[in-house]
Amino acid sequence: MTAVTQAFPASSPGAEHVDVLIVGAGISGIDAAYHVQKEFPGKSFVVLETQETFGGTWHTHKYPGVRSDSDLYTFGFKWKPWVGAPIATAEEIKKYLNETLDEQGLRPHIRYRHKVKTAQWSTPDQRWTVTVERLEDGALQTFTCNFLWMCQGYYRHEQGYTPEWPGMDRFKGVLVHPQRWPEDLDYRGKKVVVIGSGATAATIVPAMAKDVEHITMLQRSPTYFTPGANRNELADLLRDLDVPAEWIHEIVRRKVLKDTANIARLAFEQPEALKQQLIGVVRQELGEDYDVDTHFTPKYMPWRQRLAFVPNGDLFEGIRSGKASVATGHIESFNEKGVLLQSGEQLDADIIVTATGFDLCVLGDVVFEIDGESVDFADTVTYRGCMFSGVPNMAWIFGYFRASWTLRADLVCELVCRMFRLMDEKGAKVVTPQLRPEDEGMQRLPWIDPENFNPGYLARGMHLMPRQGDREPWIFTQDYDKEKDEFPAANLEDGSLIFT
Ligand SMILES: Cc1cc2nc3c(=O)[nH]c(=O)nc-3n(C[C@H](O)[C@H](O)[C@H](O)COP(=O)(O)OP(=O)(O)OC[C@H]3O[C@@H](n4cnc5c(N)ncnc54)[C@H](O)[C@@H]3O)c2cc1C
Repeated sequence: MTAVTQAFPASSPGAEHVDVLIVGAGISGIDAAYHVQKEFPGKSFVVLETQETFGGTWHTHKYPGVRSDSDLYTFGFKWKPWVGAPIATAEEIKKYLNETLDEQGLRPHIRYRHKVKTAQWSTPDQRWTVTVERLEDGALQTFTCNFLWMCQGYYRHEQGYTPEWPGMDRFKGVLVHPQRWPEDLDYRGKKVVVIGSGATAATIVPAMAKDVEHITMLQRSPTYFTPGANRNELADLLRDLDVPAEWIHEIVRRKVLKDTANIARLAFEQPEALKQQLIGVVRQELGEDYDVDTHFTPKYMPWRQRLAFVPNGDLFEGIRSGKASVATGHIESFNEKGVLLQSGEQLDADIIVTATGFDLCVLGDVVFEIDGESVDFADTVTYRGCMFSGVPNMAWIFGYFRASWTLRADLVCELVCRMFRLMDEKGAKVVTPQLRPEDEGMQRLPWIDPENFNPGYLARGMHLMPRQGDREPWIFTQDYDKEKDEFPAANLEDGSLIFT
């Protein structure tokens, strides 16, 4: 059995030392913990989590209908079969993660209500000293670790992003952000306006439609939606044939990935044809009389943002029933009764839901120092989108946005484990990404190419994010099709990782 913690002499008196300290008990942190335990039973590790339980995103979000928008065959771990419908509710995802914690014996390693505040690297000590606030009693606790593995996601869990509109304080109804959904919010028979048109709005609108008087999805501009049955025919067939769950998981993953790659290729090679195909399906759902041009024809080309899957076409069913509608336009101001659009249209509401996105946060708001110097991650260049130039013994799991996040989490876990193994072989204690002589003067590009992928929350926070370069291994492509081959084959001894 793996040691939960080991008592090594630490530079801070009273500090608890582990080999690997994982920050965050969402899907990425659990993935990292599984890999450390499985690949390195001798390494001690602990997972620190601010919230009172595991699940991250799937614990934080409690709005009506909350569910995944990608399929669980690829959003689930590569190593634990998914056996349900492809699109899953938050409850189903938490059940899957809960089973994982039990099956893998990971539960004793997690410390809840432990918020990581600072991380200081000491070159002489070759370790991180991490200050943690214990939310239970407000006490500060110190951990030291050889390797710090940041699995804290990409947005601030405490609050969502709500733009400021004139007159917001005049609104007499209830204003809610989906990230802070009040458990006792009674919306039966109420008029509701949901501001936004992303996956969150497209989930909330059909989930609330049957109970409200009316619900309006108010969007500045349209999004691509793809309706489809929430079932996977191939998985159903294989299940019917009594094929083992592990096989079904792998086969269906491959099929989903192939289909996704085909869409991505089509988006690149024939964007207009794909656009017309996607819009044509919406037209079929809503009928020729519906104004699809105004409400469901995006200004951007497909694939610049995640395609929002609509399981069983429930959003369109809500619109067809007359209980839900879409308004497209810019907000002029809020007033006592609701929202006034620049077009002069007034949308009355008892409840306004601001499904306006996230507050991007870099590395969990942890304050980093290396040998007493503060680290600004915007000054670093990323090593394969998971480590940073000049930052020793630290990795970050940042998944895919258009493909399932976890596909990348698994790839990063395997790469980090390979690096640990190489360090053990070399007897190295420290690994630091460093630009090679041939990389001097390399172009510094944004973390994610805005021409390629450009949702609002990334655009707002891009200047805070690390940079990428213009060549391997400093590129961060967000492309699973490339990385699935590149990561396992990556030469860790090409001079860009310094082992000491
Ligand atoms: C509503 C919603 C639906 C989504 N659906 C999909 C989907 O279908 N497919 C997909 O691929 N992606 C989806 N995403 C993106 C999603 O966030 C990721 O896919 C995935 O859940 C991220 O997992 P994670 O563990 O990396 O981060 P998170 O789920 O964000 O978890 C990070 C954890 O780290 C903790 N933490 C952060 N900072 C600290 C700190 N300083 N100290 C201690 N703990 C800390 C947080 O409390 C949190 O529990 C969705 C996002 C949202 C909001």
